[in-house]
Amino acid sequence: MKKYIGLQDMSHVNCSSVLRVIQAHGEISRKQISDITGLSWGGMTKIVNKLLEKEYITEEKCEVPGGTGRIPGMLSIRRDRHLVAGVDVNRTGLSAYVTDLSGDIKRQYFGENLFRDKEELLDNILRFIQRIFQDFGDEEIVAAGIAMQGGIHGENGVSVNFPGCGDWRDVPLIEILKERFHTEFYLEHDPDCMLCSETVWADGAHVILFRIDRSIGMAVSLNGTIFRGNGILEVAHSIVVPGGKRCRCGLDGCLEAYIEPCVREGQINGKAVEEMIRPLAVTIHNMICLFHADIVILAGDLMKYASLFEEKLLWELRRMGNGKKTEIRFQDDTKSAVRGAALIAARHAVDSLRL
Ligand SMILES: [Zn+2]
Repeated sequence: MKKYIGLQDMSHVNCSSVLRVIQAHGEISRKQISDITGLSWGGMTKIVNKLLEKEYITEEKCEVPGGTGRIPGMLSIRRDRHLVAGVDVNRTGLSAYVTDLSGDIKRQYFGENLFRDKEELLDNILRFIQRIFQDFGDEEIVAAGIAMQGGIHGENGVSVNFPGCGDWRDVPLIEILKERFHTEFYLEHDPDCMLCSETVWADGAHVILFRIDRSIGMAVSLNGTIFRGNGILEVAHSIVVPGGKRCRCGLDGCLEAYIEPCVREGQINGKAVEEMIRPLAVTIHNMICLFHADIVILAGDLMKYASLFEEKLLWELRRMGNGKKTEIRFQDDTKSAVRGAALIAARHAVDSLRL
């Protein structure tokens, strides 16, 4: 964060904050914008005119009764310009949304993910994104967010590793994508994207999200701010059963060693699910203690089978009794990562607006 902001920056901050207010309200009048942002009438008018000129927003003008002209009407986001894309790169597949800046979905994409080695995975990601840019062209899509499984270095746009793809190491993915598609790209850890799409409503709370599919990823939001850091919150290889099941990482008793066998080749394994409940409860309990969480969201592909373990998991958690009433939510929505990635791209696009 910059400590001091100059006049140039000031107008850019105001510009994106006005656009965000319009985004949040759907339809809004000039007077409301001025009231909410605290901008002077002149300052607000300057920004609104710029946003109209740059085709970010549109205005519904009303006829004055008696036909003596038209008065300024309600302002809203333009739905046919300035699109963003969100892409989710996951072991279980690839998915993408193209949305407008108000979050309305224009088109969805799904694809198989292939990741035997680095070359195959990179080629697969590039082909998938190519499909989107063929349909929309790089003029229309102003920014794209990539939700990526595994370790990431978000600020540098580097994907550090990808589970199950051995030679995928420190790949400068954002640099590669920018060069290829001439658009702004942003890289985010996939559970952070999911949390971002979930916490729009929970600003003041401490929220933990676990994405559970063949492994487990974790994201934390404290008072509405996502907790970030390279290589932190890697809960998959925390030991939950000392001397327990052998994990692919070489350690014994990792959480992942209990999650990984639950679904194999699309088939749920009841016995493995049974063995996974307690280790998962231990992790959830410990993380609630660590972050003083108000809400825990369980998301990801395994939630399709939540009915098999929901009750027992809640029972285990009650038995551990953390003394704090934490709400546990089961979120069977596999698309929240891709929605979150699009949302993050939209925020970046808006934030880069300058007058
Ligand atoms: Zn492990």
